[in-house]
Formats: sequence, structure tokens, C-alpha cells
Amino acid sequence: MNDELSELYQELILDHSRHPRNRREMQDADRAVEVYNPMCGDQIKVFLKLNDHHLADVSFTGVGCAICMASASMMTQAVRDRSETDAMDVFDWFHDLLTAEDPPPLRTDLPDLASLGGVRRFPMRVKCATLAWHALRSALRGDVPQVSTE
Ligand code: ZN
Repeated sequence: MNDELSELYQELILDHSRHPRNRREMQDADRAVEVYNPMCGDQIKVFLKLNDHHLADVSFTGVGCAICMASASMMTQAVRDRSETDAMDVFDWFHDLLTAEDPPPLRTDLPDLASLGGVRRFPMRVKCATLAWHALRSALRGDVPQVSTE
């Protein structure tokens, strides 16, 4: 990666971590899943609003390191308005981008997420970058008890 691109990526991550998009509690969420990364102390809760198998709204709350917050922020933008199936595809792609031995090609429809690709070189931080995504997957699968928005 050239320096210019890596600088651009740094800026994107900082921007998202300082001004996270869709960081708000969702009172009428259909699903809400809370996840915790003890390695770093990141704690994220992801909210989904579903409409006819589409993600009508996605938001999150919580605290975490810059990588975690940036990734959660980008995740909400990346999957909002997609179908459940498409959102799972995005999860698989992003997970592979960070963990697969042979990472998949970048997606032109998800330019911001490419900025987190470099995290794969830092195994300790991969959990930070994938935390919100795991919450998303659990919420999509509905394989955890649905947490009420108290
Ligand atoms: Zn972290």
C-alpha cells in the first residue's frame, strides 16, 4: 500500500471513530445484541429494525477503541437498506478481509471498509474490528435471546 492511500485510510478511521455514524439507541428495534471484547474492553450493542427481510435501520451504542468504533460506524452504513442475505454477504466478505489467509478483493460498493483491511496484520486488533459485525450476525440469525430496549 502506498503512503498516500494509507494516510487516507487513517483519516477515514479517525473520522468514523470521532464522529460515529448511527450511534444511537433504537427504541423500536426488532433485534438488539450486546457484545464484549475483554481483550480490549470494547463493548458494543447493535440494534436492527427489519422490514420485509430488509435492514430498515441499523444503529449501535457503546464504547471502545478507535478501531472498534470506526468499524461499528462503517458497519451500520454498509448494511443499512440491504436485504438480510446481502448483509450476511457483507459480513462474510469483511470477516474474510480481516481473517482469511487469502483475502478477497476489495468491494467498490464498500470503499470505506477497505480502510480497515490493514488491521489483519495486527491479530490482537482483529477482534476490535469484527466485534460489531459479530453482533450484527447474531442479530440477523436471531440466535441469541432478543434483548429488550429497557
Ligand atoms: Zn478495541
